[in-house]
Amino acid sequence: MCAAVVKADGYGLGLAEVGTALHAAGCTKFFVATIDEGIALRKTIGTSPTVYILDGMMAGDTAGEFASHGLTPVLNSPGDIALWGAHCRGSGDGASRSPDGGTAILALDTGMHRLGLTAAETKDLAGASDRLDGITLDYVMSHLACADDAAHPMNHDQRRRFNELRHDLPSAPASLANSGGIFLGPEFHFDLARPGAALYGISRSTGAPKKMKQVIGLKGKILQVRVVDSESTVGYGATRSVPAGSRLATVAAGYADGYLRSLGNSGHGYAAGVKIPVVGRVSMDLISFDISAVPVDTLSPGDNIEMIGDHQTVDDLADEADTIGYEILTSLGQRYARRYIGGDAP
Ligand SMILES: *Cc1c(COP(=O)(O)O)cnc(C)c1O
Repeated sequence: MCAAVVKADGYGLGLAEVGTALHAAGCTKFFVATIDEGIALRKTIGTSPTVYILDGMMAGDTAGEFASHGLTPVLNSPGDIALWGAHCRGSGDGASRSPDGGTAILALDTGMHRLGLTAAETKDLAGASDRLDGITLDYVMSHLACADDAAHPMNHDQRRRFNELRHDLPSAPASLANSGGIFLGPEFHFDLARPGAALYGISRSTGAPKKMKQVIGLKGKILQVRVVDSESTVGYGATRSVPAGSRLATVAAGYADGYLRSLGNSGHGYAAGVKIPVVGRVSMDLISFDISAVPVDTLSPGDNIEMIGDHQTVDDLADEADTIGYEILTSLGQRYARRYIGGDAP
């Protein structure tokens, strides 16, 4: 069984559009990070799919909100268990007893040290499992720290620890794998996989196919094409000089659109199938590409430069920016005209 992780606005691609398309494709279980994301998702996919909130009760009096929006918490701490348990047993503030209790996922920390019950807390819970009274555990889950690196010893360590910790708890289905975990093989799959990145064409994992199908394209519009008549520098800080006769295309996008500033003098685009370098710094609203290698008169103002697409994947661009595809996608700005192709429109 496979859920879809659509946190952070569907990895920057649009929660409503991504959620609707996945729901139409048959996905019935979704993960987001926050309660607000869950409420927004609920509005677009209706009442029947399960929506899990990874951040859990968010350290507050949130049980009523979970209940009224039909959201399911991931319980990350003894405090989360107490809050949700009280609500489900009808003993919390303003709680309403639901006849079959409430559902939840219980998260165990097997090595990330971010969220989830520690080994000691898990042992305590195993010895006092009445603290789970009223709660139906859909899954017990954990999260892998190094799933992108198939050879990393921590993967098997975490899987072993996960099985040990689960052993003492009331039995429930299990969930461990994110995208990278899926590519580690069947022994990591358990009952529910939780891919995010792989759904969006990101393929960082050493175990994954080299090139995932790219589900997004990013293009920038050329505002001007100019030929420099003598050796000249380009952009802020005059960080790059280009020889006389160089042809430059100035494109209407910048770091305010999530075309990261670290791509200055290191990023590339494609035009007419030719690889063209970013020259100079990336400005807030503009990028300069050196298009000298593109045949004269093939590019004019109004034409597009491919920044992500068939020639250059999200991961390629991320490498050039010294980051990961996750950051490229979640940084994509709101000024781009976004067109959704295929799937069902929301
Ligand atoms: C974000 C997240 C995922 C999805 O991870 P990907 O690497 O994008 O597949 C799965 N599980 C948890 C707990 C997460 O926080």
